[in-house]
Amino acid sequence: MTLPLWFDPTLCLIGGRWQAPRGGDTLPLINPSDGTEICRIARGTAPDIDTAVTAAEAALAGDWGRMTATERGRILSRLGQLVLERVEDLAVIEAWDVGKPLTQARADAVALARYCEFYGGAADKVMGETIPYLEGYTVYTLREPHGVTGHIVPWNYPMQIIGRSVGAALAMGNACVLKPAEEACLTALAFADLAKQAGLPAGALNVVPGLGAEAGAALSAHPGVHHISFTGSVATGALVQQAAGRNVVPVTLELGGKSPQLVFDDADLDTALPFLVNAGCQNAGQTCSASSRILAQRGVYEEVKARMAASYAELTVGPAMEDLRVGPLISARQKEIVTGFLDKGADLTIAAQGRIVDHAPETGAYVRPTLFADVPPDHALARDEIFGPVQVLIPFDTEEEAIAIANGTDYGLVASIWTRDGARQMRLAKRLRAGQVFVNNYGAGGGVELPFGGVGKSGHGREKGFEALYGFSQLKTVAARHG
Ligand code: NAD
Repeated sequence: MTLPLWFDPTLCLIGGRWQAPRGGDTLPLINPSDGTEICRIARGTAPDIDTAVTAAEAALAGDWGRMTATERGRILSRLGQLVLERVEDLAVIEAWDVGKPLTQARADAVALARYCEFYGGAADKVMGETIPYLEGYTVYTLREPHGVTGHIVPWNYPMQIIGRSVGAALAMGNACVLKPAEEACLTALAFADLAKQAGLPAGALNVVPGLGAEAGAALSAHPGVHHISFTGSVATGALVQQAAGRNVVPVTLELGGKSPQLVFDDADLDTALPFLVNAGCQNAGQTCSASSRILAQRGVYEEVKARMAASYAELTVGPAMEDLRVGPLISARQKEIVTGFLDKGADLTIAAQGRIVDHAPETGAYVRPTLFADVPPDHALARDEIFGPVQVLIPFDTEEEAIAIANGTDYGLVASIWTRDGARQMRLAKRLRAGQVFVNNYGAGGGVELPFGGVGKSGHGREKGFEALYGFSQLKTVAARHG
């Protein structure tokens, strides 16, 4: 099968023109399902980032900067339509590039379209306020774009993360420089080409693929960038924040987590069960909001363990295009990281493991989904982000103990509570340290409308929903004295 690429992946899109990186270098793009090279991609470096920032500045000074919010919204809505028309192509590209089972890749493409629709509709609905003030004054606020925004995106959900950050930034009238991950950048290029087709003016969205330490570092340190949105690891997020700090530039960081689901004795287990397992294994566990910790109250603990173990036994792992429940990890390096964690769990009890299909190529980055039981809350597997299909089951007795365990990691991205007790739902929703809390569900279907982001080492700032539009703009206060 050949990939439905309608653009040249060895080029960057800068100022509305496809162009080779200045250094002329390319990088290999690897298919994680079998370890083969899919194609070469551009190795953008600092001079390309510089050209992209200049192109973004020119867009702001030109057509893009003068465009009304309604016109920006129309372009985004058209872009959403073009994405919908290309869902199958985008899904196949993502399945090859990320190793995502086709159904999950298709869902990401639809989500990308949904972000464009949502932010297209919202673009002209962000308003300032009038503020009652002293006699003889009229005071009001304006929401203005930051200017040039930098977007550093990881490999795990390229389409969704581009949709939520670039979509909101464009809606507010910023001009974007996007640095996709070197492991998976094809849908970023595809999206930028569709944006061009939708009528986005040249320079409003520039894409420079390349290595993190080269193109990524150059973008985060560039003095012409006015806001940075970063999604990825804690270590890299801290570097990006430091670099941006030197230019006094605001940063939104979305850095992952160790998100718990709390299952109480009165929970509806039939409803909970698919959420407990899927939230840990979707995208092979490479999800910032993956639920890698299941806390179960003693009265249902054994039943939760037995039922989750039975589900794990049915998990099959194999090539993305076969569309099984679990695909490969992104790379051999990620497989090494996850295998290292499995080794660290040698002192623990394995409740169940999934199965890698016999014909899965040995050169693919496959690991068996693994459920560990009776895990002490201070064990490395219960505290550190693994980023693979690995979950730990932790028993608890009381509500207080559950809260202490749930809040006991450095992270705070997402949490969920499974209980029929309404008062407990309300209490825990307040006390759990997380940017999103779900009651009797996990993820709420991932709605683009729902503000998302973390506390602690999960990061700061919010993307998605209307909230993102505030993050991608700054407030100006105008105080007019007229007597
Ligand atoms: P990473 O944080 O290094 O990469 C994410 C993005 O940052 C990529 O686009 C990369 O090119 C860029 N980048 C890398 N170094 C940079 C630098 N010095 N300056 C600016 N940008 C830079 O993540 P990774 O190496 O791909 O994965 C390592 C671990 O990070 C994973 O095992 C996982 O735990 C975590 N991770 C989390 C998420 C998430 O959604 N929270 C996503 C990817 C990875």
